[in-house]
Amino acid sequence: MRKSELNRFLDQAQAMCDERGVRLTAQRREVLGIIHAAGQPIGAYEILERMRQGGRKPAPPTVYRALEFLLQEHLIHKLETLHAYVACSHPDHPHASQFLICSQCGEVDELESAGLDGTLSDLARTRGFRPQSHTVEVSGTCAECAQGKSAG
Ligand SMILES: [Zn+2]
Ligand SMILES: [Zn+2]
Repeated sequence: MRKSELNRFLDQAQAMCDERGVRLTAQRREVLGIIHAAGQPIGAYEILERMRQGGRKPAPPTVYRALEFLLQEHLIHKLETLHAYVACSHPDHPHASQFLICSQCGEVDELESAGLDGTLSDLARTRGFRPQSHTVEVSGTCAECAQGKSAG
């Protein structure tokens, strides 16, 4: 990933936070940058490790608080099945997400289907259930792995 692309992404996140009146602190920005640069789902421990490589020693609660903030601001999503985080592909608006997760290369593709979202909400309501949020995770094989290309 090119550095300028990462900076563009972080500046965009910064602008969004400014607009919402919330603070993207240096630490939150760093955590977001690590998740975005990973390009794959990344766990909290791995994030902590990468921050330590930068020479500092952040405490785990600091990282968890940063993750909480980023989730709350819809800048990242949590993949429950993998216990890992991914940067959101379209953080400018709140949305329910669907993820295609390749079990071979770990690639994650974020989908956004209002139709599927509506169907799930309708089904939940027929059971008297009030959904707060939902994330659909579909595991399988991505197009590249299906073609037999190794991702390395
Ligand atoms: Zn998203
Ligand atoms: Zn794959």
